[in-house]
Amino acid sequence: MAQVSLRNVSKTHSGGVLAVKEASLEIENREFLVIVGPSGCGKSTLLRMVAGLEEASTGEIWIGNKLVNHIPPKDRDIAMVFQNYALYPHMTVFDNMAFGLRLRGYSKKDIDQRVREAAGILSIEPLLHRKPKELSGGERQRVAVGRAIVRKPLVFLFDEPLSNLDAKMRVQMRTEIRKLHFRLQTTMIYVTHDQTEAMTMGDRIVVMNKAVIQQVADPLTIYEHPANRFVASFIGSPPMNFIKGTIVRSEAELYFVEGVLRLRVVDEMAARLLAYENKPVLFGVRPEDLYDKLFITDAPSDCIVTSTVELVEPLGAEVYLHLRVGEHGMVARVGPHDRPEVNQDIDLVFDMGKAHFFDLESQAAIV
Ligand code: ADP
Ligand code: MG
Repeated sequence: MAQVSLRNVSKTHSGGVLAVKEASLEIENREFLVIVGPSGCGKSTLLRMVAGLEEASTGEIWIGNKLVNHIPPKDRDIAMVFQNYALYPHMTVFDNMAFGLRLRGYSKKDIDQRVREAAGILSIEPLLHRKPKELSGGERQRVAVGRAIVRKPLVFLFDEPLSNLDAKMRVQMRTEIRKLHFRLQTTMIYVTHDQTEAMTMGDRIVVMNKAVIQQVADPLTIYEHPANRFVASFIGSPPMNFIKGTIVRSEAELYFVEGVLRLRVVDEMAARLLAYENKPVLFGVRPEDLYDKLFITDAPSDCIVTSTVELVEPLGAEVYLHLRVGEHGMVARVGPHDRPEVNQDIDLVFDMGKAHFFDLESQAAIV
């Protein structure tokens, strides 16, 4: 049985804002599940309903084998870490971590053991007697996590816990939270607006937009087979290039056609695109699936288009080429040695085996 189960859960906030619409989700025991989406899409509302800090308007929320809709937060066997992890400023780290346990009436011996164990896991033993103002941002965040660990909950909930940290500390804490998950083997639900964080941390990812779950899958599936245009554009950096065009048949082959672009659809995709013959579709290709022909020996001619370099952005191990292809701007991610001049023409090879096509009306992926 799933550890956390949402069944058709919706939430309309006072004022009539529909923040979560008919969310259904099964979170497995010991899973690290990341919920990602732009600001305002309903991530926090969803998490707060699991925590019991918001009441669901409709639907059921199960934790373990209990229906928890009407169970107060303190009895739900969860612990939550927020972005604004307000520590009590006048208490030491030890007391901050012990506070919740004291409220729950744990014995002094039990509290001492749990706090020291959590401090050991997080490598913050030397900080136990300090006050929050004597800690760095990363250390404070660790204490906030420690406060959750001492509870030994069935499920950890994280709501953008790293957003207040600087970029380097954020990357380090990501790794630490993953290690913590490995060590504790507890179910974790982690909310972020940062797609890189989602891709690097999640066993599975839930992509949300405008109150609706768009796709639930492992990171590779989300990346290689985005379910719709939103997921395709939200995940990946620099983002996927999109061009609106038409599917045209010529003899036994299908082509995607738009202005100077005439690209042959690979056989594996053709069957599903047949229904779109002479109809408009949205074509998508990721920057890393475009190549400079100079560096490719055997590209077939029906996937090559001449483009003009508008900007070259060298970024160490890779280079981003900003290109003009007919009427369209596109970005290609190429190797460190591919540095053409601005205004130079290059023959751009499209890896059509990795192309994406979306229905213009529903925005759903066709292939
Ligand atoms: P996210 O965490 O993805 O940024 P939220 O869940 O915080 O999104 O918010 C989703 C939507 O619900 C937003 O439009 C937000 O303004 C609205 N909202 C959130 N909390 C409340 C509230 N307590 N009352 C009214 N509207 C709210
Ligand atoms: Mg939020």
